Amino acid sequence: MLRIRNLKCYYGKIMALKGVSLHIGQGELVTLIGTNGSGKSTLLQAICGLMNHWDGEIRFKDASLRGADPPAVVKAGISLVPEGRQIFPPLTVEDNLMLGAYTRLRRGERQAVARDLEMVSKLFPVLRERVQQLAGTLSGGEQQMLAIGRALMARPQLLVLDEPSMGLAPLVVARILETLADLRREGLTILLVEQNARAALQIADRGYVLETGRIVLQGRAADLLVDEEVKRAYLGKDYRD
Ligand code: ATP
Repeated sequence: MLRIRNLKCYYGKIMALKGVSLHIGQGELVTLIGTNGSGKSTLLQAICGLMNHWDGEIRFKDASLRGADPPAVVKAGISLVPEGRQIFPPLTVEDNLMLGAYTRLRRGERQAVARDLEMVSKLFPVLRERVQQLAGTLSGGEQQMLAIGRALMARPQLLVLDEPSMGLAPLVVARILETLADLRREGLTILLVEQNARAALQIADRGYVLETGRIVLQGRAADLLVDEEVKRAYLGKDYRD
C-alpha cells in the first residue's frame, strides 16, 4: 500500500533521513521505533506532504506522492495523528471531529460522515459523553482519543500516528494501543511511530528501527521483541521475557 525507496530528507543542508526504504502492506500494522532525533517525525512529515526538500520515492497505492500537498495526501487516503495531538482547543469535541471530515462534507457525504461520527463515538465512548465540551478542557488521554477520532473521520486507508503515547499514563496508553489493535483487526492499515518500543512491537505485525536517519533493523515485531540489540537499546531494564 505504501512503498518508500531511498528517501532522503533535508532541512537546509542537514540531511535528516539518509536513504530510508520501507513498505507497508494492506492491513498491516507497522511500527517505526527510534530514539529522539532519529528522524521518525521527518519521515511522517514527508509522507504527509509536509516536507519541502526530499529525494527518493514515496508511492501510495502505486501512485507517487511527489508534489502532493497535505490536502492531496488526505484525499489519497492517508490521515495523520500528529505528535502533540494538535486538536483545536476552543472548538467543541464534535466540531473537532467534523473538521476531520471537512473534505468529505464538501463532497456531500453527509450521511456517511454521520455514520462515522457514530463509529468514532462507539470506539471512544468518552467522546460521546463530551461532544459539546471544549476540546481544550479534555484530559491528555481524551485529547489523544479525539485526535485519533478526528483522523478516522477522514475515512483513511492508511492511519499514521506520531507518538500517540507521549505524556500519557500507562493505563491510557494501553487503552489507546488496544484501540489501534482493534482497528487493525477490522482491516485498517496503520503506521505507528513510537518511542514506547515494547508496547508498539506488542501490537505490530512488523517493525523498523531508525537510527540517525537510517533504518538499522527491520523484521517481524515478534522477532524484534526478542532481538538482543533491540532489547538493549530500546526496551529498557524493565523488559521481561
Ligand atoms: P523525537 O522522537 O524527538 O520527536 P524524531 O525521531 O521524530 O525525534 P525528527 O524530529 O524527525 O526526529 O528529527 C530528525 C533530525 O532532524 C534531528 O536531528 C532534528 O534536529 C532535525 N530537525 C528536525 N526538524 C528540523 C527543522 N525544522 N530544522 C532543522 N533540523 C530539524
